[in-house]
Amino acid sequence: MIIYKKVIDISIFLKNKRRSKQDIGFVPTMGALHKGHLSLLENSLKENSLTVCSIFVNPTQFNDKADFEKYPTTIEDDIAALEAVGCDVLFLPSVEEIYPDNLSPEPYDLGSLETLLEGKYRSGHFQGVCQVVDRLLDIVQPTTIYLGQKDYQQCMVIQKLIQLKNSNTTVFICPTAREITGLAMSSRNIRLSQHGKEAAVAIYNSLLFIKGNSNYLSLADLKNKVETKLLQSGFDSIDYVEIADGTTLESISDNTSSSSKVALIAAFIEGVRLIDNMVIS
Ligand code: AMP
Repeated sequence: MIIYKKVIDISIFLKNKRRSKQDIGFVPTMGALHKGHLSLLENSLKENSLTVCSIFVNPTQFNDKADFEKYPTTIEDDIAALEAVGCDVLFLPSVEEIYPDNLSPEPYDLGSLETLLEGKYRSGHFQGVCQVVDRLLDIVQPTTIYLGQKDYQQCMVIQKLIQLKNSNTTVFICPTAREITGLAMSSRNIRLSQHGKEAAVAIYNSLLFIKGNSNYLSLADLKNKVETKLLQSGFDSIDYVEIADGTTLESISDNTSSSSKVALIAAFIEGVRLIDNMVIS
């Protein structure tokens, strides 16, 4: 695996690859890699002649400075894991490489995606996500970008960004990789105690409960029951339990007719904010 730290170096390398008509698959990450990230890489490796992974903990998408500072970094293990799956290129830039002084990004028009759900609780988060993904897409110019359904709203935001930029890059969304217990894999799980990890499975069980009962209970009832269950299971606080239209993420009420529905949860346990979702129809 070749590791590039400078934009100029990876750009020259990829320009040559594009000239020889190679398909480039791209997996952007913030590191502390787990099997969820690796499943994205495996999809890319299957479908492209060249796979690029980036590891960059993007400061502009953290609205909470402490969360940024506590974000786990395990770079040596990450490199070993990438080598083991056969990743071709790792892009490992510094903040200065991604955000040089002469770069002044315009705000992205994300519509209501920016203020709903994650946007409501993490002000500015999706502008930061767009800044970094826009820059990375400019540098890598991939044929396909691989994203995880675990970050459902982020997938929609990046699809919107690609549309706003008239980019040719295709988006491939990979299913959420879970522990055997059902807990969605996340770099943030490293910060949980064993007990916390066991208790955190309540998010997955809540999503299953919503999916299994959405035809029998009112949506308000479902949300109330799930919120109570999460707090009883050891969650400290809940940002949202929402049932939303899968294409707009607008909240659904019992009378809304919507062909695709998704349940989404964000909640804190042991001071760690976890998110998960499940398509329910
Ligand atoms: P992150 O490093 O958290 O920014 O995630 C990088 C990419 O991996 C994003 O597209 C995430 O949605 C995806 N990802 C994170 N966790 C999982 C998971 N458990 N299953 C599948 N994809 C994931």
